[in-house]
Amino acid sequence: MHNAQSLVKLWRHEFADLPFEAVVKQDVLRQGLSFTPAALADADFKKKDYFIFTFDRAPLSSLPDHKRVPEEIRIFTPAESGAAQGFAAALQPTVISVRLNPDSPYVVDRGADGNIVLLLSGEALAQVLFPPVPEYYRQQFSFDKPIGEVAPAIEWGYLIYLTVFRNCQYFGKDEECQFCDINHNWRQQKREGRPYTGVKDPAHIVEALEKIAASDSVAKAFTITGGSVTGKLQGKDEIEFYLQYPRAMSAALKERFISKMVIQAWELDDCKKAIDAGVRIYHPNYEVWDADLFKKICPGKERFIGRENWISRVVASAEAFGAMNVIPNFVGGVEMADGVGFSDEDQAVASTSEGLEFFMSKGIVPRFTTWCPEPFTPLGESAPPPLTYYLKLLRNYRAIHRKYQLPVPPGYGEAGVGKAVFSVSAFMDVL
Ligand code: SF4
Repeated sequence: MHNAQSLVKLWRHEFADLPFEAVVKQDVLRQGLSFTPAALADADFKKKDYFIFTFDRAPLSSLPDHKRVPEEIRIFTPAESGAAQGFAAALQPTVISVRLNPDSPYVVDRGADGNIVLLLSGEALAQVLFPPVPEYYRQQFSFDKPIGEVAPAIEWGYLIYLTVFRNCQYFGKDEECQFCDINHNWRQQKREGRPYTGVKDPAHIVEALEKIAASDSVAKAFTITGGSVTGKLQGKDEIEFYLQYPRAMSAALKERFISKMVIQAWELDDCKKAIDAGVRIYHPNYEVWDADLFKKICPGKERFIGRENWISRVVASAEAFGAMNVIPNFVGGVEMADGVGFSDEDQAVASTSEGLEFFMSKGIVPRFTTWCPEPFTPLGESAPPPLTYYLKLLRNYRAIHRKYQLPVPPGYGEAGVGKAVFSVSAFMDVL
């Protein structure tokens, strides 16, 4: 386990070509973090809304503070500081999603001077800011649900995350993606007393976006997403169910925001329907590249669509959306799940890099999230992959992206150290 000094040493000796910010970000995401009561004493910040998954390393019932913690943290060292000022190395502002883990070596605390700090194994690594409450969170709406339940803001306010279906019809361990806690999250949130509406009303979504458009200058994009619909949902198939949301929005609303949709790999004609409905960015997530692991880790997707079909649909969808607007996600690190995936990190990185090469050679730029082994999922008992896996993956990601001279994926805000707001991996921080 690292302390601040050994983390800096690892960076300087083996990964100096990456920003230290990316090293810290990946390690915090990989291991999670916890908060002391003193750190949470100032209540005026944007709380974690549990917008689709828990992204926690322990059950909510064992995390008494889960309704009081921030959505993200932004770590930094004051401009004039560095090692001489009590920090191991200088850090530009870096946004990191909050994943609770009471056993993590990362702890957010309040120092004697009143500043909030991120500790690693008891040593101060950075100062910490919590996200501001978006202005629209203070407004009144016609519906009787908290706005964070209907249209939560993440990525420091940049992205409105619209999980319109909070379950998945891939159900149970023989169908659910083995890393995914969407159905478990829904059950846990209900037990904890949140409204956690299963299917959102399109009228509520439209009302929320109109108020956001009128009052908020930080939010630039929205994502419509949710679980897969393999049969019918409210009498609609998956295409008609999901497209009812963008179809309910005015043209002005779709002009105001970058509209993104995270759904399954659809056939080309259905992708064209999505474009007609106003969807600009398409995320048909392929989750894991290796063919055998896809079958094991995504059994529902394998059975209903199949890996080869999934990949060929992703490639075909570029004809409709334009390659740069097709951004399939993979769950970085799940290919190293204990007892299922690669035990050798170099083999894991090589496999995933093969997928990156495949898509990027066609102008399609995947993104990745950092796998969080969530309790209740079949892979939830696994240890997270080593930090060095993530750093090697980031290095390859950037190298392949440069090799094909690809653009920064749209819909993620600015890229680069000190600017990126994408909070669940450091891919935007290194571009
Ligand atoms: S398709 Fe897989 S990853 Fe997506 S919600 Fe369903 S179980 Fe989760």
